[in-house]
Amino acid sequence: MTNWQGKRVTVAGLGVSGIPAAKVLHGLGALVTVVNDGDDERSRTQAAELEAQGITVRLGDGATLPEGTELIVTTPGWKPDKPLFAAAAEAGVEVWGDVELAWRLRGPDAAPWLAVTGTNGKTTTVRMLASILEAAGLRTAAVGNIGVSLLDTVLGDETYDVLAVELSSYQLHWSPSLRAHSAAVLNLAPDHLDWHGSMEAYAADKGRIYEGNRVACVYNVADKATEDLVREADVEEGCRAIGFTLGTPGPSELGVVDGILVDRAFVEDRQKQAQELAEISDVNPPAPHNIANALAAAALARAFGVAPAAVRDGLRAFRPDAHRIEHVADVAGVTYIDDSKATNPHAAEASLAAYESIVWIAGGLAKGASFDELVTKSAKRLRGAVLIGKERHLIREALARHAPEVPVVDLDRADTGAMSAAVQEAARLAAPGDTVLMAPACASMDMFVNYNKRGEAFADAVHALAAQHGSNN
Ligand code: ADP
Repeated sequence: MTNWQGKRVTVAGLGVSGIPAAKVLHGLGALVTVVNDGDDERSRTQAAELEAQGITVRLGDGATLPEGTELIVTTPGWKPDKPLFAAAAEAGVEVWGDVELAWRLRGPDAAPWLAVTGTNGKTTTVRMLASILEAAGLRTAAVGNIGVSLLDTVLGDETYDVLAVELSSYQLHWSPSLRAHSAAVLNLAPDHLDWHGSMEAYAADKGRIYEGNRVACVYNVADKATEDLVREADVEEGCRAIGFTLGTPGPSELGVVDGILVDRAFVEDRQKQAQELAEISDVNPPAPHNIANALAAAALARAFGVAPAAVRDGLRAFRPDAHRIEHVADVAGVTYIDDSKATNPHAAEASLAAYESIVWIAGGLAKGASFDELVTKSAKRLRGAVLIGKERHLIREALARHAPEVPVVDLDRADTGAMSAAVQEAARLAAPGDTVLMAPACASMDMFVNYNKRGEAFADAVHALAAQHGSNN
């Protein structure tokens, strides 16, 4: 669809991706109608702004397909089982997400995409990748689900050699024609099952990232489900399956040998079996899951032809984002770590594996997840647990089943002081040398606006505790 003039396009949803999509399509000459379930104060203000530009907005009715719709562009959050999509399927109308729209609108000389998805580690890996590409002197940006709109990027004035693109399972679900240069699925664990409907549907959406890859499909050797997705994908001829592992790599893999990150997949020197890339200490922080992220980023960069020295320099220059295993303070010999971004059990498992004797602060919205595996694997590291949030009972029950010896404080409060109370309780349970780790394994929206606010509440509470103790080192 190259001629947009007069096309009847329905945009599903207002918000951060619906509004820009509507404006772009309107600018291209399409006849845009935005439909939105809500009809509150905020959506009325947003609607008024769009209507002033000549865009039709229908508030309070997101279910009915507007007459004559030729295409739907949806915000990624809209669940596939919504009535609007059933109506679209019946009428033979295609549905695109905002990423698909960006993909279709990019120019003929547009930069190739190196794409990353996975249950956990996406943002970190994409930032590492961008850092490596920059170190190689390439014009690049970290974009997509990371909070930088792909639509703005492909329509902007800036030119790029290559983009490091983070894609969520929602975005992939609505991106039927996307074709990356190379892509990685970092790992697969149950998450967002309430949206996708089943683990199979979630995995299938993640697997779309490999469709049509030209150079490399990067998978996690330790997570067979990611390798299966590569096998099922329909890729360009010559596209290679490249694994990453924390162990010794096989041929066509990147891995770790004697504390060195090595590449056996893209070796320039025929005399050599492996190419040294960087030391483990170049990875920040050098926790096992993060070394895996670094290897995945390195694999994508190497698939793009980046030299080993740039991989090392890019990893050294990388600084992790806030609320991802962030050291907050040491108080009375106890270390306080903010991993508020651990919003599902698989993420929390990775950070719990990085410490020895832990008082764990957890709980919130479970999104349909189970905590049995997480608790079973982490039980021996737990000195205690402080549970917060709406669905904390699910973690409490898993602890009772698999780790009955671990003392648990069940905090039945959701007020603004709840995190502070949790930190006080955790401090009471902790002994010098322990780590208090806030890695909730749950989403935050029952108590906080988002995971950032949850992390900030934790850091504030820890600083208050430090002030009480008269120490903050
Ligand atoms: P995403 O963008 O996928 O949410 P982030 O890079 O923001 O991932 O990391 C989110 C959290 O997931 C981290 O705080 C950490 O707890 C965990 N994590 C990061 N990388 C991995 C990994 N490779 N495997 C498991 N958990 C991870």
